[in-house]
Amino acid sequence: MAQELSQKLIVLADAAKYDASCASSGAPQRSSKGRTGLGATNGTGICHSFTPDGRCVSLLKILLTNFCLYDCQYCINRRSSSVPRARFTPEEVVELTLSMYRRNTISGLFLSSGIIRSSDYTMEQLVRVARLLRHTHEFRGYIHLKTIPDASPELIREAGELADRLSVNIELPTDAGLTRLAPEKNVGSIHTAMNTIHQGVEAAAERGAPRFTPGGQSTQMIIGADDSDDHTILHRAQSLYGDFRLKRVYYSAFSPIPQSPNSVPLAPPPLMREHRLYQADFLMRGYGFRAEELLSSRRQLDLDIDPKLAWALDHREHFPVDLNRAEPMMMARVPGLGMTSVHRLIELRRERRIRYADVARLRCVLDRVTPFIVTQDYRPRGDGIESAALRQSLNTPRPSQLALW
Ligand code: SF4
Repeated sequence: MAQELSQKLIVLADAAKYDASCASSGAPQRSSKGRTGLGATNGTGICHSFTPDGRCVSLLKILLTNFCLYDCQYCINRRSSSVPRARFTPEEVVELTLSMYRRNTISGLFLSSGIIRSSDYTMEQLVRVARLLRHTHEFRGYIHLKTIPDASPELIREAGELADRLSVNIELPTDAGLTRLAPEKNVGSIHTAMNTIHQGVEAAAERGAPRFTPGGQSTQMIIGADDSDDHTILHRAQSLYGDFRLKRVYYSAFSPIPQSPNSVPLAPPPLMREHRLYQADFLMRGYGFRAEELLSSRRQLDLDIDPKLAWALDHREHFPVDLNRAEPMMMARVPGLGMTSVHRLIELRRERRIRYADVARLRCVLDRVTPFIVTQDYRPRGDGIESAALRQSLNTPRPSQLALW
């Protein structure tokens, strides 16, 4: 790689690391032109790699440029920041992507950008990269484009036809926070861009038309740059899932940046807070929980226990759950029981009554499950045990508590 390109890569990969909103799950393989196109994901040696919180680690994740006209206070690339600056041409991004893809070091591209000249100009540059990759080089790998909210709907629609996933960052949990810390951004434009993508997805599905951002859209919220609490954050996420059918909301703990302005904190929030938000989000997407249930009596998620256990301890009236009678969604609310285990138990109980040994054979942490269940031959001894005592006994730190379930 030419030295100049390599220097740019150092600057622009570093500048992109604060964006959490990329994951390559959820997109089908591109196969419209058979199995021979460059980078077809059904080829050998291409793998997708995820961190425990779902972040994809096999994408080339870069900014087109970290020059920016805007001065968002929480961002290291803001206009007033003194970071080293660099800018790729679209052709350079294409060259880098293809060369890393051919070496199997990446499975796709995540491309974002600071705003240069205008929103439309910047978006056109991002779209040009995707167009060159798809049309000129028949690239079948994964493409995630960050959408510039103020860009024209036509450009956003073209991006949707080229990319596997689009994202528009909501940035902060409240409109007031965004207005205070990023006054050049416009909340209305962010919603309009999300709606344009949402409508594109719906229209393509209705027509049975060719793909339109088949991995859907995602967004990112920065946690801890303003004083929004978890209650506000989860309700905002819930509205975004409902209004725009987002695939994912990503939560990114604010990282203090060199020469931070006084308007943002000097210290980051606890990383465990970000982790608990991901767990709560997972419960909302996959387990039927509502934000108002998870935070019915408090504004912040507990840091010391996961939100499912916290809900169960707050709602002892629903437990113990009889695994031979309960509805599947109630079984899934048992701490320590994931959906896979619930499906196994449902299948099993079609054949016979579920016994304690059946639960013990599941891949679950038994001492978290047993206080909350009844089986044919088991009922928890301390049916009336106080929630505080139960919480204490279950709250012995163990590595499994860091897993989602
Ligand atoms: S527009 Fe984006 S890159 Fe520019 S300062 Fe704001 S957050 Fe940073």
